[in-house]
Amino acid sequence: MELKVLGQDNQAPQAAPSGGCSSGTCGSSEDGMSHLPDNVREKVNNHPCYSEEAHHFYARMHVAVAPACNIQCHYCNRKYDCANESRPGVVSELLSPDQASKKVLAVASEIPQMTVLGVAGPGDPLANPERTFETFREIADKAPDIKLCLSTNGLALPDHVDEIAALNVDHVTITINCVDPEIGAEIYPWIFWNNRRIHGAKGAKILIERQQKGLEMLIERGILVKVNSVMIPGVNDEHLKEVSQIVKGKGAFLHNVMPLIAEKEHGTFYGVMGQRSPSKQELSDLQDACAGDMNMMRHCRQCRADAVGLLGEDRGEEFTVEKIEQMKIDYAEAMERRANVHAGIEAHRDELRAQQAESDVANFIAPEGTPAARIAVTTKGGGVINEHFGHAKEYLVYEASPEGVRFIGPRKVDNAYCVGPDVCPSGDDKGTVLDAILDALSDCSAVLSAKVGIEPWSQLEAAGITPSGEYAMDLIEDAVKAMYAELIEQGWAAKDLTAQAV
Ligand code: SF4
Repeated sequence: MELKVLGQDNQAPQAAPSGGCSSGTCGSSEDGMSHLPDNVREKVNNHPCYSEEAHHFYARMHVAVAPACNIQCHYCNRKYDCANESRPGVVSELLSPDQASKKVLAVASEIPQMTVLGVAGPGDPLANPERTFETFREIADKAPDIKLCLSTNGLALPDHVDEIAALNVDHVTITINCVDPEIGAEIYPWIFWNNRRIHGAKGAKILIERQQKGLEMLIERGILVKVNSVMIPGVNDEHLKEVSQIVKGKGAFLHNVMPLIAEKEHGTFYGVMGQRSPSKQELSDLQDACAGDMNMMRHCRQCRADAVGLLGEDRGEEFTVEKIEQMKIDYAEAMERRANVHAGIEAHRDELRAQQAESDVANFIAPEGTPAARIAVTTKGGGVINEHFGHAKEYLVYEASPEGVRFIGPRKVDNAYCVGPDVCPSGDDKGTVLDAILDALSDCSAVLSAKVGIEPWSQLEAAGITPSGEYAMDLIEDAVKAMYAELIEQGWAAKDLTAQAV
C-alpha cells in the first residue's frame, strides 16, 4: 500500500494549537508527512476523513444536535426519520447535547477505533451554537481522547472562532460553493442574517464575505480548515477552480469537491427542477484540475449527519437513544482499551509499511505510454482486500498508470448484491443490483475481491471487467499494481477513460 500524503507539497500548514485536525493529508508516507509539524502529523495520522490511509483503520461519528439552519441551499432538504438515505443533512434522531454525549461515550466504548466526533447538522452547527458547544464541552470533559470537528456553511463562523479555538476543536470544514455572488444567487435563494431574510446575490455576497472572513480567522489561529464544495454542473463547476485557488491562497489545508446529489424524491429545488449531478469523469476531472492548486480529498462518503463507523459503513442503528439508555459505560476503562487498540492499529500499519517496502510489486513501473487502468477493490478496512464482491456496499476505485497508483474515489451501491440467504435479493431485484454495480464500475478494467461468485463473475467479464479473487488479503495498492501488470501482460483492451459519461 502506498502511504502517501494527500498533502501539500508546497507550504506546510500552520500547526493547530493543541487540537486542530489537519486535514488534507491523507495517507502518509513517512516522506510525505515529513514536512508537517509533529502535532499536525499526529492529528492527521488517525483522522479518517483527512487521511486517505487512516480511513481504512479509524472510524468517525456525527451527532445530530443542530436542527436549525441560517441559509437555504438549493440542494438541501433536511428530513428526519429517513434511515435509508445517506446524504448530508439527513438524520434519524435529533439529539439533545446530553443524549449526544452519552451516544459518543457508548460508540467510543463499543467501537474503539472511533477517533473523531463531528457536528455537521442536520442544520448548521453554528446556527445552533448553544447545543453545539455544550456537546463539545461535555465530550472534551468526559472523553478527552476524541478529536472534535465542526462543519459549517460559514455564515455565523466569524462570531464563534474564538470559542472554537478555546475548545480545541480539531478542525473546521467550511462549505464554500462560490466566491461570486451572482453564482451564489443560483445556489442560495436566501440567507437569514441580522434577523432578516436576504435574497439573491445580496444575500450570497454576505455569505461569501463571512465565509472568507471566518476562513482567515481560523487560519490566523492555526486551526486547520477543510473546504467542501458541491459541484453543480452548469452552475459552479468551472468556477470551483477559482474557489480552490482562493481558499488555498488563504491557507486552507484541503479541498473536498463533492458531486451534487439531486433526486426528485429528495424534494430539493435542484431535485425537483431536474438539475443533473456530475458524471464520475466530470467530478474526477474537476478534482484533478483543482489538485494543481491544493490537496484534494477524494474519499469523502457524503455521510449522514448522524453517521457512525468506518467511512462507507453506518452503524447508527446500533446506537439509538433507546439502546444507549440500556448501556453501562465505564469510560475510564474504555479509554484504556481504546489506547491499546490504537497502539495495535499503529503497530499493524508499521508492519504493512514494512511489508510494502519489501514487496516485489512495489517497484513495478509500467512502460511509458501504457494507458491507465482503473481497478476496483472491495474491503472491510485494514488496508487489504478482504470483502466478498457480493457483500460490498461500495467499491474503491484506483487508477494505475506508468506514474503509479492513485485513489480515484468510492463508488456506492444501494444494496449489497448478495446479503445472505434470508434476505438475498432475487430475480429482477438481484439483476437490478448487479446492473447498478456494473454501471458504477463501467470505467474499471478489473475488480479485486476476497471472493467473486460465478454469476457476477461471468457478467463482469461480459462487461469487460476482469474479476479476481487472487489478491484476497493483499495490500490494496500492491494488489492494484500487480493486477495492472497482469493486464499489461495479457494485452488488455484499455478503456477510454475520458469517455466515461456516467
Ligand atoms: S462527509 Fe466526508 S468529511 Fe464528513 S465524515 Fe463523511 S467522509 Fe468525512
